[in-house]
Amino acid sequence: MHVATGAAGGAFAGSRLRAAVLGLVLHGVCDRIPHWDIASPRFEVRSGLALLGALAVARGPFDPAVVGAAASSAPDLEHVLPLPKLGGRKLYPTHRVASWHRAGGVPVGVQLFVAGVIVGLLLHRPKPEPGP
Ligand SMILES: [Zn+2]
Repeated sequence: MHVATGAAGGAFAGSRLRAAVLGLVLHGVCDRIPHWDIASPRFEVRSGLALLGALAVARGPFDPAVVGAAASSAPDLEHVLPLPKLGGRKLYPTHRVASWHRAGGVPVGVQLFVAGVIVGLLLHRPKPEPGP
């Protein structure tokens, strides 16, 4: 879901800088929505990379949608990579507050379906209007 919401935000933001900032913010917002996490970190990482790769191939690697998707996904890298901790706690602000991330609510299947629809729509980038 972080890839999809970040990509949608990035496409809306329209510039790489705004896409990166919005993607980082969207990560925290989406973490706050009660949801079930995918039980397999391996599947989560691979499906996220697949969606990110598909967006990069379809839109170009520096398209704001791709930048937003990467920025929105990046905070969760600290769950799978041995990154340093700040005062013994995670780095991303909402990961530092245990009560921010709540289990329950949106099921995994719904998240995967919605993410697929969002990314599927974003794979078809509108062609610019031909000039005069
Ligand atoms: Zn997170």
